[in-house]
Amino acid sequence: MKRILITGGAGFIGSHLCERLLNEGNDIICLDNYFTGNKDNIRHLLDNHNFELVRHDIITPYYAEVDEIYNLACPASPPHYQYNPIKTMKTSIYGAMNTLGLAKRTNAKILQASTSEVYGDPIIHPQVESYWGNVNPIGIRSCYDEGKRASETLFMDYHRQNGVKIKIIRIFNTYGPRMNPNDGRVVSNFIVQALKNEDITIFGTGEQTRSFQYVDDLINGMTRMMQSEDSFIGPVNLGNPNEFTMLELAQKIIEITNSKSKLIFLPLPGDDPKQRQPDITLAKNKLDWSPKIQLQDGLKRTIEYFDSII
Ligand code: NAD
Ligand code: UDP
Repeated sequence: MKRILITGGAGFIGSHLCERLLNEGNDIICLDNYFTGNKDNIRHLLDNHNFELVRHDIITPYYAEVDEIYNLACPASPPHYQYNPIKTMKTSIYGAMNTLGLAKRTNAKILQASTSEVYGDPIIHPQVESYWGNVNPIGIRSCYDEGKRASETLFMDYHRQNGVKIKIIRIFNTYGPRMNPNDGRVVSNFIVQALKNEDITIFGTGEQTRSFQYVDDLINGMTRMMQSEDSFIGPVNLGNPNEFTMLELAQKIIEITNSKSKLIFLPLPGDDPKQRQPDITLAKNKLDWSPKIQLQDGLKRTIEYFDSII
């Protein structure tokens, strides 16, 4: 049995990770400040004696004896990370320093939930890990993009300078049950709008693309990465390479929900990336991992969840 700290454990991805690692017989410390996460996401785990819930903000140090750390604490949806951009930057940078300090002291292995946003509005397509990206350092997305880039730097420097055992994953757009319905991300927005027969809000022309990964696939990739040999530190892309325009996504959701919703077109937010698709060759080779759940099936499962809560 390992003692595992999951920061941001009450969030969308964190709650699935807590559940998986708990079911595998580990002792879990779920740390969260509930900014975008919710106790309802992990309520079903509270009776398990191997599950511990800690209200804490990771911008201040946290002390515990642990074997592994998954650092997920950070708002992920643009409206939430732009709500208090200075706090977002603090969460990324102080959060990385505090969890890395803990890993250094306890000799724990530590995994950073980085993001495809480190590639910015990418010119290289699909995105391969060796691409340095095209990021605006002074725009409205910068607090998140540059915060995540700085945390990758901190991870690499703690590794080079102090020999901390690190793992960096770059997560591409992930969706599934337990996304916050008010999160503002495209999959949750479109599903909630379609289920309520409200207008579907397409930003810009809707021709921009994303590649959507179902959460169970991501959890498989993340846990494989943590268990991989120490010499493989990443960064490694984890995402589903099937790429869709936002118009195609809206169409699929309307079809599955049999919705009467109409499309409306709103202004495109600043610095919104035009295209995004992961090259997952490295994950295939090093982790023997590839996503199994395709959009149609994943959307059906996610729609069932939203139908049950709204
Ligand atoms: P989420 O917003 O549901 O989860 C983030 C969690 O972190 C929430 O529970 C929130 O309350 C908590 N948190 C935020 N600031 C904190 C702080 N200062 N101290 C303690 N807890 C704090 O988002 P998610 O989709 O589950 O994302 C989890 C991680 O994965 C994030 O780091 C995000 O950047 C990364 N990621 C997600 C995606 C995606 O598509 N979902 C893509 C790339 C990267
Ligand atoms: N988007 C949209 N309508 C919405 C929410 C988002 O058209 O109601 C678009 C957004 O402009 C972006 C894409 O969907 O081009 C993905 O947005 P999301 O916020 O989910 O993730 P990110 O931009 O961080 O990849």
